Amino acid sequence: MDFELSDEQRMYRDVLRDFVDREIRPVAQEWEDSGRYPTEIVEKMRVLGLFGLTVPEEYGGLGADMVSFALTFEEIAKGWMGIAGILGSHSLSCWLLARHGTEEQKARYLPDLASGKRRTGIALTEPDAGTDLQGISTTAVRDGDFYVLNGRKTWITNARYADPLPVLCKTDISAVPAHKGMSVILVEAGTPGFTVERDLPKLGYKGTESCEVLFENVRVPATQLLGGVEGRGMQQVLSGLETGRINVAARALGIAQAAYDEALRYAGERRAFGQMIGEFQAIQLKIAEMAAQVQAARLLVYWAASRSDGGHRVDMEAGMAKAFASEAAVFCALNSMQVHGGYGYSKEFIVERLYRDAPLMMIGEGTNDIQRVVIARALLAGKASIG
Ligand SMILES: Cc1cc2nc3c(=O)[nH]c(=O)nc-3n(C[C@H](O)[C@H](O)[C@H](O)COP(=O)(O)OP(=O)(O)OC[C@H]3O[C@@H](n4cnc5c(N)ncnc54)[C@H](O)[C@@H]3O)c2cc1C
Repeated sequence: MDFELSDEQRMYRDVLRDFVDREIRPVAQEWEDSGRYPTEIVEKMRVLGLFGLTVPEEYGGLGADMVSFALTFEEIAKGWMGIAGILGSHSLSCWLLARHGTEEQKARYLPDLASGKRRTGIALTEPDAGTDLQGISTTAVRDGDFYVLNGRKTWITNARYADPLPVLCKTDISAVPAHKGMSVILVEAGTPGFTVERDLPKLGYKGTESCEVLFENVRVPATQLLGGVEGRGMQQVLSGLETGRINVAARALGIAQAAYDEALRYAGERRAFGQMIGEFQAIQLKIAEMAAQVQAARLLVYWAASRSDGGHRVDMEAGMAKAFASEAAVFCALNSMQVHGGYGYSKEFIVERLYRDAPLMMIGEGTNDIQRVVIARALLAGKASIG
């Protein structure tokens, strides 16, 4: 059994770590606070080729393995989780296009998505349906060589930059079960009737916009149906969420590690009652528990990613990694705040931002309750096992 990264993966992580230390960490606090869009960071991520993470090499992407994919999100989230979504939703949709797109769709979009000339996101959630995706009400009705889309999506990351935006909708509202009538349509920016209505105000995850978008009689060529066959949308999306969950799990790991790092540093600097606070057993207990949680999360995340690299379906593994790592992130952010005392509550210390960014990891790409349902179903059906 080998728990080590390969030399290539370690070198890749070091390049990213250096990039985050130089370009992200110094501005994260100020830009997060001001709500400024991180245009310069996006440009540097583009130059590094990161928009091509999940795009195959033949289309100009990195075609990265899942462990390197996870390392990317871990390192970025250590610096500023709030910008990880710029790459996260983009990578998920690139993966969907590469895996399920027609040859024409792949040739049309993947090279530009890999270079960052085009960017993308994913539109699943609606005001009345998030977990229950079969309950969505956005429709795409065939009209000659076009589909006509009507509906509303919410919480859409990258909505202001996505071109195209893959939209989950119903192409057959009478289908039973409902998922058999669901499809993904690629909607290009600027298509009449497609409007980004507003940016949602939120606790954290600043640096990436989360928007409500409206489709009013949006006419889209029928060739924009992902994969060219109706009724496959739900399966396409669920297969993509597997990588999405590794992505969120890795972001959570990055937050947990950053919270631990801050606590460890502060415990060695702050003095009370004539000694370092790290010499108090109460602080030591927090440090030890945080370290164990971070390391356990890391092993789960890398395990899920390497199982995926091995060609396995990893619903259970990605679900475990996502649920555990996100709860570790929340635990570490809160405990790190306690180690910092009053300063932990100050916007002048990083831990305040980590505390606001962590809970989203328990919600995004499927809530943790749903992860547990996915894990249990896989185990009960004998599709996965442990031990
Ligand atoms: C900042 C942010 C960014 C996001 N980005 C995107 C994006 O880019 N694209 C996108 O499509 N969506 C996005 N989302 C939406 C996100 O995926 C959903 O919020 C999430 O899937 C939960 O759906 P919901 O909010 O409708 O909650 P609901 O589905 O209403 O769930 C409410 C509660 O009920 C529980 N629940 C629901 N069903 C069950 C069940 N069967 N069993 C047990 N418990 C259940 C849930 O666990 C939760 O606790 C984003 C959300 C946020 C906050």
